[in-house]
Amino acid sequence: MTKKQKAQKLKRLFLLAYPNPKTELRYQNLYELLVSVMLSAQCTDRRVNLITPSLFASYPTPKHLANANLDELKALIQTCSFFNNKATNLIKMANQVLENFNGEIPHTQEELKTLSGVGQKTANVVLIEYFEKNFMAVDTHVFRVSHRLGLSCAKTALKTEQELVKLFQNDLSALHQAFVLFGRYVCKALKPECQDCFVREFCVSTKIFKPQ
Ligand code: SF4
Repeated sequence: MTKKQKAQKLKRLFLLAYPNPKTELRYQNLYELLVSVMLSAQCTDRRVNLITPSLFASYPTPKHLANANLDELKALIQTCSFFNNKATNLIKMANQVLENFNGEIPHTQEELKTLSGVGQKTANVVLIEYFEKNFMAVDTHVFRVSHRLGLSCAKTALKTEQELVKLFQNDLSALHQAFVLFGRYVCKALKPECQDCFVREFCVSTKIFKPQ
């Protein structure tokens, strides 16, 4: 079986197993989604969901966030990893949204990436979740799953993203969401649930996967 054929089989199986995969972050609008995704870097969705209700009550719009007091914002998100940097970036991002985008969160990858604290992964995750755009984003779960399944041998997230895009071509947003959920609950980093794995026959983890 070629790698392309394997990818097509895996795609069918993942789309069947996860018919409507969505993020576990809780949000009401695009602004809240962007803030939540920015907070979720190196932090769990569960932790972010504990933080955001009071955060959005205090700063319900980009305008409120742009005028936030840095120390007060830090206090609200202090249980999140890298909260110092994240607080600074959140205020900068909100100011850029006001100044450059009339207070509306932009809708394209190119524009999103102009915002402080928003790299390719964050931009893609937002576009995948909110608009179901045909993008791939490689976080720790997608990286691990795609390597264990032999879909990529790339050393970096960006290269892995390029390989997955080339391999799958479409249904990328659903595959991203499915890989995240599969990586979070089945193909876990330390103790994967291999006995219950529906794609076990495709796994090459014992052959080539080396945890970083
Ligand atoms: S068999 Fe185990 S390591 Fe391989 S993909 Fe399935 S859960 Fe992950």
